[in-house]
Amino acid sequence: MLRKVYVANRGEIAVRVVRACRELGIATAVGYSEADAGAPFTRYADEAFPIGPAPAAESYLAIERVLAAARTSGADAVHPGYGFLAENPRFADACAEAGLTFVGPPGSVLALVGDKVAARRELSQAGVPVVPGTEEPVRDPEHALAVARELGFPLIVKPAGGGGGIGMTVVEGEAGLAQALEACRALAATAFGWPDVYVERYLPGPRHVEIQILADAHGSCVHLGERECSIQRRHQKLVEEAPSTALTPALRREMGEAAIRAARRVGYVGAGTVEFLVSGGRFFFLEVNARIQVEHPVTEMVTGVDLVKEQLRIASGLPLGVRQEDVGLRGWALECRINAEDPLQGFTPSPGRIAAYRAPGGPGVRVDDGVETGSTIPPFYDSLVAKIVTWGGDREEAVARMSRALDELVVGGITTTIPFHQAVLSSSLFLRGELATDFVETETALLDHTRRIAAEREARAERWPSRSPVRARVAAIAAAAVVAQTGP
Ligand code: ADP
Repeated sequence: MLRKVYVANRGEIAVRVVRACRELGIATAVGYSEADAGAPFTRYADEAFPIGPAPAAESYLAIERVLAAARTSGADAVHPGYGFLAENPRFADACAEAGLTFVGPPGSVLALVGDKVAARRELSQAGVPVVPGTEEPVRDPEHALAVARELGFPLIVKPAGGGGGIGMTVVEGEAGLAQALEACRALAATAFGWPDVYVERYLPGPRHVEIQILADAHGSCVHLGERECSIQRRHQKLVEEAPSTALTPALRREMGEAAIRAARRVGYVGAGTVEFLVSGGRFFFLEVNARIQVEHPVTEMVTGVDLVKEQLRIASGLPLGVRQEDVGLRGWALECRINAEDPLQGFTPSPGRIAAYRAPGGPGVRVDDGVETGSTIPPFYDSLVAKIVTWGGDREEAVARMSRALDELVVGGITTTIPFHQAVLSSSLFLRGELATDFVETETALLDHTRRIAAEREARAERWPSRSPVRARVAAIAAAAVVAQTGP
């Protein structure tokens, strides 16, 4: 087993990884930027090292600085969390060269799946259904036009090295194609240092359903069911759940087998996610995320498998602690990402000092956070404050618990997405489990509802416990959920 892990990340995911290490008796170290001095994750790890100024490029993304801190700490392994360096093949290789075990797939696998065009080609050859589109980069407007005439509109132009929804452009007809291609190439070059783009058919209102996999270095690979991540804004996930109301047991089995085929084809080792779009009862491969994902807790809640511990075991060279026949899905889990963003201003970031913080608790509630009263959400990094995860015996119980938990949650001093989540939970589409990636646009009352809830929360000045109107709505949601389940 690994002896000491350096966590090359910050905030809630650094805390999450340290928790897993503690349970396994592994020592920990973290690095922190000037903006994160004194943050809870720096105190929770056994040791913490300053690694540079606030901008990520000069600290968390600066490979040499990160490796220097890891070496100084005496760690024998590096866990990259998600984001930052997690899917950077150069970083994985640099760790290996420095004699440090990288907790994740080898650099060669990261390079292959990080090229979305190569991954599409590879998996299509392995018999995994991919979204119809090009299996090579689109060279110029003429090439794009030829592809478009074959596929039909609407289309989506995407960066080959993409992530975070950056640069993806939907094109409705031939007139906008050349311009979209140019714009996407320019953005891809700036954001990813790599201008290659490709074209896919744009599926109307699909669902985003992804499969969690675990693969060890001894040839075993299992899947742990799906997560539904259809509730998004600007192609970024806001609410996730497991299982998905979109899947039948047969479709779940088929997608799980496809994900395992994908993992085997690319020689995957570690924890990973194979993302699909589901439309018209069929599924199409989107991309492989070669890391632990933000939404991993919902899978942990319904399977009882600790994915971060499995990552650490795999990196230690041990065989998987779980066999496919032992993986069962029990109950239902939801996750709401609480971001320092203003949902009423187009989800613009709202960094600042958290004047008051109180996490929810009680049955079926899990909180993954890295903040406390007095913490600052710096403007330099992503704006995640906390992940509230609830489990219930069925979807209705998980939803009612989430509603209750969000009512208990206090985050004062900054604007957050809490009221937006509360509005989602009372949407009848959501309660019926009728989700799609255009949910936020379709559910037109959502923002008005968010505004009302935000005002209610303001009126009670984020005190806890409180006899708030929000609480009355929890009962109403629970009643509506029962109606949705059983019929009026
Ligand atoms: P990124 O890696 O930048 O996050 P993805 O390829 O994972 O990009 O897509 C993110 C989201 O964008 C999906 O969950 C979905 O909502 C939307 N999307 C991507 N490709 C398509 C497509 N071909 N048709 C419809 N929606 C799509």
